[in-house]
Amino acid sequence: MKTVVVGTGILGAAIAFRLAEAGCDVLAIGAGGGATECSFGWINASFYLDAHHHRLRREGMAAWRRLGEVPGLDWQGAVSWEHDAAGLEAQAAELEGHGYRVERLGMNALRDRVPGLAVAPELALAFPEEGSVEPASAARALLARAEDAGARLMLGARVEAVTARAGRVTGLRTTWGEVAADAVIVAAGCGAPALVEPHGLALPMLTRPGAMMVSRPVPRVTDTILVAPAREIRQDAAGRILAPGAVSHQGDDAERLDLGPEATAAQAKGAVEALFPGLALDWQRIAIANRPMPGDGRPVIGRAGPEGLFLAVMHSGVTLAAIAGEAVADLIAGGDRFGALLAPYDPRRFAA
Ligand SMILES: Cc1cc2nc3c(=O)[nH]c(=O)nc-3n(C[C@H](O)[C@H](O)[C@H](O)COP(=O)(O)OP(=O)(O)OC[C@H]3O[C@@H](n4cnc5c(N)ncnc54)[C@H](O)[C@@H]3O)c2cc1C
Repeated sequence: MKTVVVGTGILGAAIAFRLAEAGCDVLAIGAGGGATECSFGWINASFYLDAHHHRLRREGMAAWRRLGEVPGLDWQGAVSWEHDAAGLEAQAAELEGHGYRVERLGMNALRDRVPGLAVAPELALAFPEEGSVEPASAARALLARAEDAGARLMLGARVEAVTARAGRVTGLRTTWGEVAADAVIVAAGCGAPALVEPHGLALPMLTRPGAMMVSRPVPRVTDTILVAPAREIRQDAAGRILAPGAVSHQGDDAERLDLGPEATAAQAKGAVEALFPGLALDWQRIAIANRPMPGDGRPVIGRAGPEGLFLAVMHSGVTLAAIAGEAVADLIAGGDRFGALLAPYDPRRFAA
């Protein structure tokens, strides 16, 4: 069975790898760019929409661990003082109710963990099981692993349409010609709706632009992901600071960025420098992308339309990429191992 994955961002890469590893005949087609290139890369379940979504994200974290060595994958944990003490207590109680590991850090414990910090909140929460990955490098590494497992890549081509006959997928029409396929997995981020709409799936997408700032390397200020009221911050292995353009970026619902690129970078730089007196950041990269956020804010993953057509589109796609790879490989093999986990995210809820 010939399986084509459309999209070579973090989702397409994880799916292509798990399919190839399972012995499928895989071709991954990607036009390049996308949200993965500008992601913060935080793998977590402290942000979630409801109990089911929390569980999916937990499974996402576990699936990343099953991927083993991936460039930039670091289980350094996260520390948050995003809310006031009462808000943090409520968050901790809710997370503990889900069986999530949470540590309460008093002022001195936080100072011990992040010595250069200027602020001294009376309470912070640590989420020791969380981590991060360098999303673009991880996607490239997973594609390389897919190639090693027998997959083929077709890069730079754009898929114009998924073709089907008598209720079955037959292949794709690309800017580089026709490609036959028995199964097509659309993991094309914001490019997905145009490919599934002709097959009866009106996938609405929210407009959620996100920006990311990456600094030149500085001496180490934090070993853990920081969730401060003014900004989320992490420092990569090379010493670069990453900070999203928005506060609490995972729940950011702005439809446009009010500031231009340099003003956005200056604001993020100011927010980070205020936390670490003496730190002088010089931005090395500013990136912007639309987050692939389905209309109801929830992941979309599973069978879609004609026999052989599958869809995987979601925000927090870094957290969820590894579990999406496992789940799609299982579905293609005819399994139902992830049926209960994925039930709320069935693409057919958007059937026209
Ligand atoms: C600022 C920002 C911060 C974020 N932070 C986090 C975070 O901390 N944690 C987290 O889990 N998530 C985060 N996200 C979300 C996460 O980055 C995305 O959900 C994830 O990268 C989506 O991956 P993807 O592979 O589905 O899509 P993309 O990375 O967008 O890739 C889609 C690919 O499909 C290709 N494509 C599209 N249409 C076609 C076509 N017709 N033919 C061929 N190819 C096509 C594109 O070229 C692209 O390469 C963040 C996003 C942003 C923007």
